[in-house]
Amino acid sequence: MTGRIEDISVARTKDDRTRLPGFEDAVVGPTGRAKQDFAEPAKLKSHGPARIISLCNQKGGVGKTTTTINLGAALAGYGRRVLAVDFDPQGALSAGLGVPTHDVTTIYDLLLSRSKDPLEAIQHTGVEGLDVIPANIDLSAAEVHLVNEVAREQILAGVLRKVSSEYDVILIDCQPSLGILTVNALTASHGVLIPLECEFFALRGVALLIETIEKVKDRLNPAIELDGILATMYDSRTLHSREVLERVVDAFDERVLETVITRTVKFPDASVAGVPITEFAPEHQAAKAYKALARELIVRGAVA
Ligand code: ADP
Ligand code: MG
Repeated sequence: MTGRIEDISVARTKDDRTRLPGFEDAVVGPTGRAKQDFAEPAKLKSHGPARIISLCNQKGGVGKTTTTINLGAALAGYGRRVLAVDFDPQGALSAGLGVPTHDVTTIYDLLLSRSKDPLEAIQHTGVEGLDVIPANIDLSAAEVHLVNEVAREQILAGVLRKVSSEYDVILIDCQPSLGILTVNALTASHGVLIPLECEFFALRGVALLIETIEKVKDRLNPAIELDGILATMYDSRTLHSREVLERVVDAFDERVLETVITRTVKFPDASVAGVPITEFAPEHQAAKAYKALARELIVRGAVA
């Protein structure tokens, strides 16, 4: 994996980035690199098995849930079969996709009982091709219950293995902590996507997160990759936002995705409506940004 902290020093300077050979006159995007248009993805001829991606950052309010919902909807729009897994007891993903979380089978039930069929927990959303396994506050008890389990870090992996053939991509919306649930998510995943808010303290904590990913890679899941760092809540009008993004790119270089998510009130509005922004306001630049993110991840090979 390329996410090691030691690699940070090799990041190129901004001057190098804006003068990439052949791109001298190109329009420069917010990351300081030449702006790219990611090609429309080809239709898939067959589906599955899924590549599993965790959306992970132990800081709350950075856009994990918003990204899971809207990236999921955008990928479904490109014909990918997507399963979103709510792995946060707050249940914000389930609410944001408008599915019930009570008197239904949740991810908690699947973690606790091996005999439960995960297909029973899957709910369709209003978006064709986007399904969800919901969560509710019960999940907060999982940490305690799992402590004495055999191979407690691998339980989610076992659950998702049973449904993987039905999907092209599974997105896990992690809770804001680095506890046993998040370790389960990382152990089950092929890749990690780190949403990072363009705020002054954003970089604090990322070292710890990458250290956790490294530990999971060493001990539990040697194949895990850092699929990218996604800058969120970006406001191009403020020098502050631009400076933070510049620092993030200096630190993580090409691991920072080209697509940047701008701060806009459309997101809270769409959450209240219980639909992805790609449905709520399809022509809004925020919807277009998530479609661009979907195309970028397909071009990068993180999604089929
Ligand atoms: P997390 O899952 O990391 O805690 P959320 O995705 O729930 O973060 O986002 C936190 C809050 O910020 C939510 O109210 C959401 O609607 C809002 N939000 C998310 N992304 C944006 C954005 N790009 N611009 C403005 N508000 C956003
Ligand atoms: Mg969340």
